[in-house]
Amino acid sequence: MNDLLIRRARLMDEPGTVDVAIKDGYIVAAGGGVAGSARQMVDAAGRLLIPAFVDAHTHLDKALTAPQEGAGSLAEAVEDFQRRSRNMDKNDFIDRGRRVLLMALRHGTTVMRTHITVNESLGLRAVEAALTLKEEFAGKVDLQVFAMGSGLEPAPTPPLQELFEEALRLGVDGLGGAPHLSERMQEWVDYIFDLAARYNVLIDFHVDETDAPSVASLEYIAAKTIQTGFQGRVVAGHCCGLAAVDEEKASRTIAAVKEAGISVITLPSCNLYLMGRRDKGLVRRGVTRVRELQAAGVNVAYASDNIRDAFRPFGNANMLEEALITAQVLQMGTPLELKNVIKMGTYNAAAAIGLKAYGVKAGNRADLVLLDATSPAEAIIGQAEKVCVIKGGRVAVRNDKKSDIII
Ligand SMILES: [Zn+2]
Repeated sequence: MNDLLIRRARLMDEPGTVDVAIKDGYIVAAGGGVAGSARQMVDAAGRLLIPAFVDAHTHLDKALTAPQEGAGSLAEAVEDFQRRSRNMDKNDFIDRGRRVLLMALRHGTTVMRTHITVNESLGLRAVEAALTLKEEFAGKVDLQVFAMGSGLEPAPTPPLQELFEEALRLGVDGLGGAPHLSERMQEWVDYIFDLAARYNVLIDFHVDETDAPSVASLEYIAAKTIQTGFQGRVVAGHCCGLAAVDEEKASRTIAAVKEAGISVITLPSCNLYLMGRRDKGLVRRGVTRVRELQAAGVNVAYASDNIRDAFRPFGNANMLEEALITAQVLQMGTPLELKNVIKMGTYNAAAAIGLKAYGVKAGNRADLVLLDATSPAEAIIGQAEKVCVIKGGRVAVRNDKKSDIII
């Protein structure tokens, strides 16, 4: 007997409706008129069933710490966290992280990658908290923990190196950082590549998060990725400077990114708030060249980045809300474009962070969201209710008020 049978669900890329049968956490059949009984039945009644959202770039350690006085720039926000995190203990990180993970799950996110700051004053308190949450939320929200430098350290000094190695021994999934904030950017990038190779982990950098027309770190990271054979294992987040360089430089850099197999994650909601803060009149918005990157065949995802902290006071860990912001700022408004946006927060994000067996297809993991909409466009525009969130084949969250959905 199957564990769960979802009847009459509409999928993104297929006409009509299908039935989806789930057993032991996996989709065992998806198609027209799937037979057999199940312990639990969901009547989708023509609603849209999508793979659960993947929030591929967040900062759980910073979330829910928005100060009374807002930060005036990225640098000020980094300093704000550096200052205040000195007094935060492990439980503080755990409590806030837990609240965000519960928000995310309610909104249909079942996989999240969080960057966690490591520096000398903070030590590994935030990393330990994130690893505790990873264990606590196993089977609800799969958490990938990436250790990052705060960006304020000019170089990876021996005490910092010791902290990164200890973070890896504790079990972080990957390494990152914001090398563009350092004057010795290349030294940081080289160090992270060496360490990632040594421990066989993935890399995810904050890249050129600047108003200036600069692709210095993106160019260097792309070259380094190819040189070290890390193709397909590196993510570049933000890439704001790419939006500001001229067309010739942009297309040369995008070609290198494509060749390096780097996935790009755009963080529109955060960068819209954070970038160009000193501009008057025409304010630069810091959102990377998504259209051009996609046209060149680069895998591009969007994610939420900062949730109610000094970097951005907004955010609900709600990838459908992020989809609406992304669609508006990227001027993607047709049904086809809105479907692309939903895919950026699901399939593309899953590919960026290396998830396997993802998607609404037999053989894949049953991480699903049933939306109270009949199409991606309707879901984004109407900010559809997540009727139920299915994690590992089990109904993890029910937001519906209609009792006839789950039979
Ligand atoms: Zn970030």
